[in-house]
Amino acid sequence: MVNLLQFDRDALGDWCEQQGEQPFRATQLFRWIHQRGARDFAAMTDLAKSFREKLVAGAEVAGLAVASEQVAEDGTIKWLFDVGGGDAVETVFIPEAGRGTLCISSQAGCAVNCRFCATGHQGFSRNLTTAEIVAQLWHAEFELRRRLALGEGERAITNVVMMGMGEPLQNYAALVPALKVMLDDHGYGLSRRRVTVSTSGVVPMIDRLRDDCPVALAVSLHAPDDALRDELVPLNRKYPIAELLAAARGYLSRAPRDFITIEYCMLDNVNDSPAQARALLALLRGDGSAANPGLSSKVNLIPFNPFAASGLERSPSERVAAFAKVLQDGGIVTTIRKTRGDDIAAACGQLAGEVQDRTRVAERRARAAAVRVAAPASRRGGAVAAERGHRA
Ligand code: SAH
Ligand code: SF4
Repeated sequence: MVNLLQFDRDALGDWCEQQGEQPFRATQLFRWIHQRGARDFAAMTDLAKSFREKLVAGAEVAGLAVASEQVAEDGTIKWLFDVGGGDAVETVFIPEAGRGTLCISSQAGCAVNCRFCATGHQGFSRNLTTAEIVAQLWHAEFELRRRLALGEGERAITNVVMMGMGEPLQNYAALVPALKVMLDDHGYGLSRRRVTVSTSGVVPMIDRLRDDCPVALAVSLHAPDDALRDELVPLNRKYPIAELLAAARGYLSRAPRDFITIEYCMLDNVNDSPAQARALLALLRGDGSAANPGLSSKVNLIPFNPFAASGLERSPSERVAAFAKVLQDGGIVTTIRKTRGDDIAAACGQLAGEVQDRTRVAERRARAAAVRVAAPASRRGGAVAAERGHRA
């Protein structure tokens, strides 16, 4: 059985041709799967009966097994998917007014082993397949549409961030077709600026992504100098900061936005001093010389979410604010990431009744976040409508 979630539209076209079908059939099939969430081939009535029979015999649309679902006070939903072999990955839905963001995993575990990251601590198990990456979006989008009774022209997820478990650029071959499904006008129709790949700095793959499938890019920097970054993000020993920033600058030539997002996890007394803020500012602003040209960027400061084995603590909020101010005063747009869904772990194992109540709260919030899409087949029109067309 071939899982059709593994194909972008070109690959589905090739597969259809191998079955003796016209390539345009692939577009119809692709739309059934990714615009309507269909998995039952018999219901795809605009496909020839002979083709439907071939599909029933040799193909499937296989989603992921849900191991658990948790709903936070603020409406954030976290799914734990069992991907077999003792591995599970998480996907998080974050509703906000007029926008719904899905945070998707790319690997079970991660080999980069950043000091402050729980995924890194687990070690690396395996890469997810394209089908497993796409299935996270397929599940969330159509599950939410069903729950919220959204109409044909409405979508639940407007933004995707590859910020779940794993280093997406260390799973490049599976990542790129998955991104193409997200961007495809006959798929989810997300604009390139609404799909973000976050990386700890796999320099050669940043160059390849620019050429193959440029989407918004976030770079996890976390330190203003190589000595500290070597400790926090061990990949820095292979690709130091100067090379990483050079790759990020190169990426801008084809990026859908004219800046790169810099992520910086605020660790108490490790990387959060005013001197380190000034060093980061100097790095990003540059001095106009060829040796230090700076980078067009926005900074997102992430308050550290502590876990037992890390031995690290979250910077106090005043220190985060002071750090942000140095950057802002220096002319760099800087935001502090809101912590979302941080009560979910606490809610784990609580009473079922309470969980159901929370589900209703989440539905209300998610419904307020859902957007009406005027022209689902047109990416640009859709994105504009999504920005303007709040339901609530
Ligand atoms: N591997 C990629 C994407 C996944 S991690 C990357 O590192 O960019 C997504 C973001 O969460 C990264 O910026 C990462 O540094 C941050 N992060 C990891 N562990 C964290 C923690 N314990 N608290 C806060 N942010 C964390
Ligand atoms: Fe965690 Fe990202 Fe570092 Fe991997 S690269 S250990 S997912 S922060």
